[in-house]
Amino acid sequence: MGRCMKVVGVAAFVLAVFAQSARAQTAAQYQQTQFKGKEIGKLTGDVYFARMDDYVSVFMVTPEGIVLVEPIGTEFATWLKAELARRFNLPVKYVIYSHSHWDHASGGAVYADTARFIGHENMLKNVAMPAANTPLPQNAKAQDTNGNGRIEQAEARGQMQTLFDLYDANKDGALSGAEVTRGPITLVRAPDLTYTDRIHINLGGKRVEVIARPIAHADDNTIVRFVDGTGVVFASDWITVRRLPFGAIGDEIAMVKAVEAMDFEYFVCSHGALGKKADVTANIRYREELRDAVAKSIAAGQTLEQAQASVMMEAYKAWDFYEQQRPQNVAGMYRALSTNRR
Ligand SMILES: [Zn+2]
Repeated sequence: MGRCMKVVGVAAFVLAVFAQSARAQTAAQYQQTQFKGKEIGKLTGDVYFARMDDYVSVFMVTPEGIVLVEPIGTEFATWLKAELARRFNLPVKYVIYSHSHWDHASGGAVYADTARFIGHENMLKNVAMPAANTPLPQNAKAQDTNGNGRIEQAEARGQMQTLFDLYDANKDGALSGAEVTRGPITLVRAPDLTYTDRIHINLGGKRVEVIARPIAHADDNTIVRFVDGTGVVFASDWITVRRLPFGAIGDEIAMVKAVEAMDFEYFVCSHGALGKKADVTANIRYREELRDAVAKSIAAGQTLEQAQASVMMEAYKAWDFYEQQRPQNVAGMYRALSTNRR
């Protein structure tokens, strides 16, 4: 009897966790690193950062309300909204999306009672549901073990398993090709104010610059510069601070240099450590040294695999994700330089 009760208790607990994950995004779903906990801290003037583990957002407080970058997700947005009300007693008037990826853009609905949502115009097509007859993407087909063209909950593996509810937009318990292609973004609220090149927000006598920077990582990528007495630039995912850039980076050195040339002191990436302009300069140096080393290996006739084994970027061993990202960074640069030569 006691044993039976215990089993029932565990089942109830599992159900409760499940029910919660269906409507809220818990911190555990997000990339985990050495950065832990939720916190708010001042950067400069009226500009603050807010963190959930590895994820970082930035906001500016004005007498007429708050301008926020990156909702990050429902758990974080719910926490931050209460903190902002308690500390400043001001509503969030604008939420600026850095790009449409689920782990940065989800949770905006939490602020919908007071805020307008700003995103690059490409974000509209990225959050739209593709045509119903869109087939499963090539890299998802292996999960469709019963071959019916959809991925049922029991078939889902990896990210599609852990983020199943965020993919399953129509809540029918199976992922269509369209839902898989669209991505785990059911909690991403579409922007209601879009722009193409740049727009400036003026609130409470302060200006925020919203600037398009389409990159390989996201064609709706946006950077934000806070001005008027402060000098803070926020850039999501691509200009990393004491961390190797993510994935198969191409040759985006000129674009990072254009950011470096802007007038600012504090630099915040959406992940990891807080930075300053010198960290953007260091990111450029890494990319240039990577480019030169890969160019040398190509000139010496090395294959991609040989380049990955020889371009070690030793000086950056202490940066986050050195082990995981170095081979991918080398591969991306190798392909970018090989394409340029043709
Ligand atoms: Zn991203």
